[in-house]
Amino acid sequence: MVERDTEAEKKEILRRYRGLLRAATRSRSPQDRRRIRKAFNLALEAHKEMRRKSGEPYIYHPIAVARICAEEVGLDTTSIVCALLHDTVEDTYITLDDIQNLFGKKERRIIDGLTKISGVFDQTSSMQAENFRKMLLTLSDDIRVILIKIADRLHNMRTLDHMAREKQLKIASETLFMYAPLAHRLGLYNIKTELEDLSLKYKEPEQYQEISAKLAKTKAVRTRFINKFAVPIRKALDAERIDYEIKGRTKSIFSIWSKMQKKQVRYEDIYDVFAIRIIVDTPIEQEKAEAWKVYSIVTDFYQPNPDRLRDWISIPKGNGYESLHTTVMSPTGKWVEVQIRSRRMDNIAEKGFAAHWRYKGDTESAEHNLDNWLAQIREVLESHEDDALAFIDDFKLNLFSEEIYIFTPNGDLKTLPKGAKALDFAFHIHSQVGSQCIGAKVNHKLVPLSHELRSGDQVEIIVSKKQTPKEDWLSYVVTARAKQKIKQALKEERKKVAAEGKDTLRRKFKNIGASFLSVNINALQDHYDVETATELYYRIAKGNIDIKKLKGFTVDGGRLSFKKRDASQQKRQDTKSVMAPVPGKKEVLLIGDEAQRMDYTLARCCNPIPGDDVFGFVTVNGEIKVHRVNCPNATQLLSNYAYRVIKTRWASKELEHFEVTVQFSGIDDVGLVQRITNIISSDMNVNMKAISFESNDGIFDGLVRVQVHDTEHLHVMIDKLRNVEGVLNVQRMEPGQMA
Ligand code: MN
Repeated sequence: MVERDTEAEKKEILRRYRGLLRAATRSRSPQDRRRIRKAFNLALEAHKEMRRKSGEPYIYHPIAVARICAEEVGLDTTSIVCALLHDTVEDTYITLDDIQNLFGKKERRIIDGLTKISGVFDQTSSMQAENFRKMLLTLSDDIRVILIKIADRLHNMRTLDHMAREKQLKIASETLFMYAPLAHRLGLYNIKTELEDLSLKYKEPEQYQEISAKLAKTKAVRTRFINKFAVPIRKALDAERIDYEIKGRTKSIFSIWSKMQKKQVRYEDIYDVFAIRIIVDTPIEQEKAEAWKVYSIVTDFYQPNPDRLRDWISIPKGNGYESLHTTVMSPTGKWVEVQIRSRRMDNIAEKGFAAHWRYKGDTESAEHNLDNWLAQIREVLESHEDDALAFIDDFKLNLFSEEIYIFTPNGDLKTLPKGAKALDFAFHIHSQVGSQCIGAKVNHKLVPLSHELRSGDQVEIIVSKKQTPKEDWLSYVVTARAKQKIKQALKEERKKVAAEGKDTLRRKFKNIGASFLSVNINALQDHYDVETATELYYRIAKGNIDIKKLKGFTVDGGRLSFKKRDASQQKRQDTKSVMAPVPGKKEVLLIGDEAQRMDYTLARCCNPIPGDDVFGFVTVNGEIKVHRVNCPNATQLLSNYAYRVIKTRWASKELEHFEVTVQFSGIDDVGLVQRITNIISSDMNVNMKAISFESNDGIFDGLVRVQVHDTEHLHVMIDKLRNVEGVLNVQRMEPGQMA
């Protein structure tokens, strides 16, 4: 063991604690100081025996996280208290009840959130995604949970040196994947940049070192350039008696690296390694006028590029960013970006929305923006039923994407991600506007729903009460909100249609004297081979199932039943194809892990024959239905009712016959039918049950229903048919084409 100087350590702990208090500028009152002291003492005691990987006392970590919260995020006393205690419940004897007794309910909730989301990433990737979703859900409870979590991650990244290499890589990747984008969305620009740079440092150490060395080497040149560039501007600003600061802002190592990767260029080829920032100290009422005054002065000396003017003062970005950007030509012939903003804007840009708290009177709009964003996330999260990974993709798309600004006809401004379509905008306004959208006018010109919007467009949405959301809308909308709403509406629409079908069925049952009971509905489901009652109602309403023509049933004491044989005759009528009865069940299938011989029926929706890839499905009545794996119903059955699926394989070939329909087409020719039937019945000795031909302008389409032993038998026959002169295409009719 290493000899430790505990006295020196105690002193160091106190020194760090006092540093935290100095940084906690929002917590000056005696009560605030008491709460912080209490949290510190508790954390100190609880983590007493613990050390970090580096060998340092563990308490350094919570103190540092609390300090980041206070100093770099600008958070309140409650956050500092919770940051100090953030690892106690997870790693020590302290319980949530203790926290509540000693501090309060709010603190309990935040620490609970922090404890729950720790270890979020110690999982496989889809678990990660699911957990991330959970993490965001807690985020919507109290934003402080996520801000403290980001501070925690930042300190861990700053002290990553002591971890094993694999651990470093893992933590760095997670940081880049989730925490940096989140910090970005929350407007924590400095933290986002540092997280990215630190991630790169561990992921690509050599490239990181190379870029940072080059930046250091060119620092003097940059400083000289900026000073020279600033000379005439300073003179003019002084003459106007404007309070200002001019500084150079270097691009982050990560963004230089990204640009090198993206454009496949060398460091030397990156022209916008730095920007010049002019910050004016001015009261909030005069910010805008002052910024434009500075702009006017800058462009008096240097020629601006009109394409590169960005006014985020009149229209702040969605994450609260405000600034005026222009790119001007420097005396050396290089384009230089100049960022003009007030002190307040600068603070907010670097520290995020929490900095708004410092500026009285302006908290409302910032918090309103954030609230909107959180409300949207909550909405998406809570109604989300798809798999978590797809969700994360949508979500990240929305996090990363650049923004475009769209105007309503009244001149209201809406922010949407780049790539958004007219339909996204409609859903952004209101889900009903989206659902009933039939078109849009962009800058007074009529465009389709899928029209991609551009920043500055004025968009008027055209609605119709008759419109309902369509499946194909999902193929072009980009916002998570629109996708969510469309999926939801489609589902509801289906339910509504199903309700109509249910009424129709209820009337039918009444007419034939059958009770409207689940046992009868099940019988009907089985008869039509439909898996769920809702699906049955839906098909009835849509006319896919015509119950007026329902035949072959008996009603006895209100109970409905079908004769098997009649049932398939019914099917024949419904599908208007020529089909013979399905063969009875014989022991040709081995079902389940034990390969038992059990009773089963072959599903009529896909008509399996030996050799097909199949699975068994236990129906509501406990019967086993055998479907082909490529049956149109299979995906749904396999994904939703996996527990009802049993392994099934074909037993050795027995001399059983199974029916399949073979479809073929070709060029009409005298004697063709003869040749085909000859091959089938004479050459192959296959029993032909039905055959139909249709000829149209010299092209024929035919269907033949035959009995074969298995897929091999079928394929030999198909191959022979393909060789018949005039036949162009022969194939087994696949499940999707039936009925
Ligand atoms: Mn921690």
